[in-house]
Amino acid sequence: MEGKKINLLGKTLVQLQDLCAAEGFPRFTAKQICDWLYKKRVDNIDAITNLSLAQRARLNEIACIGRETPVRCQVSKDGTKKYLFPVLDGHFIEAVYIPEEDRATLCVSCQVGCKMGCRFCVTGQQGFHGNLSAGDILNQLFSIPEFGQLTNVVFMGMGEPMDNLDAVLAATQVLTADWGLGWSPKRITVSTVGIIPGLKRFLEESLCHLAVSLHNPIPQERLQMMPVQKAFPLNDVLALLRKYDWSGQRRLSFEYTMFRGLNDDLAHAQKLVDALKGLDCRVNLIRFHESPEAPFKTSMPSVIAAFQSYLNSHGVICTLRASRGQDIDAACGLLAGKE
Ligand code: SF4
Repeated sequence: MEGKKINLLGKTLVQLQDLCAAEGFPRFTAKQICDWLYKKRVDNIDAITNLSLAQRARLNEIACIGRETPVRCQVSKDGTKKYLFPVLDGHFIEAVYIPEEDRATLCVSCQVGCKMGCRFCVTGQQGFHGNLSAGDILNQLFSIPEFGQLTNVVFMGMGEPMDNLDAVLAATQVLTADWGLGWSPKRITVSTVGIIPGLKRFLEESLCHLAVSLHNPIPQERLQMMPVQKAFPLNDVLALLRKYDWSGQRRLSFEYTMFRGLNDDLAHAQKLVDALKGLDCRVNLIRFHESPEAPFKTSMPSVIAAFQSYLNSHGVICTLRASRGQDIDAACGLLAGKE
């Protein structure tokens, strides 16, 4: 990205209107810039040919279109692709492209590293190095060759979305607004460990789907895995979620990674059913992907099947998420942004 110039990618229509007003450009110029940025997806200001030469020259002085091509792409034997992007000063983040029969999802990062320190997560063990801008987030979509195939985006890569909510909301606004890409919010899922102030704002301002990382229904045990439980206990998160209607377009899901001997027996399944009673939601079970950095093991397949069947037979829709990209460390919790 060029020096300290304003990055146009990721700017909302209102932000571009402010910029145009400050530069003395007509107000409609902001909409024109949006069209070129988001509909035509140009990667340089000179390509915005319906602006005057003087306007383009001025924009080039103060702004850029912060497109960065990935510096590496690893391809899994199952077709999953992991892209590495340079961001901030000398850091890298990863995005994972997951093609399926009827859809193609991109899992994007929103921070360099993460402050949440979940014990089982490679990103969490690396500490926090900075927030991505809305432009950095959108660049992960815009700068991969599969952009045209994408049907869904999930904010489940590196970082905690509610800890960088301004940028996440600006990026989802670009994705969903008619002046942006015009996607339905149903195509976007934002995940969180349950940071309540951010979550409240997200629930008021966004219609995107929500995925809450739950992983253990027993407070003392969850605290051992997820330090966030101390500041924002799961019960408080669930109480907040109960205030909203989940029977319409917006969907609520809970992520539950299966750790051998820690959270995978039927006592935990029963507590989970109790905790979610009355909430219109589903649970996604995730096989834990073992890594040298994390001292945990994944649950046996028969144990996962018994857990899933207990939930399904007790009124909680429960699916087992297919493991993708494990051979290239692209699976959940394995993103490290290592060059
Ligand atoms: Fe952060 Fe998510 Fe990893 Fe927890 S699991 S440390 S919130 S990236």
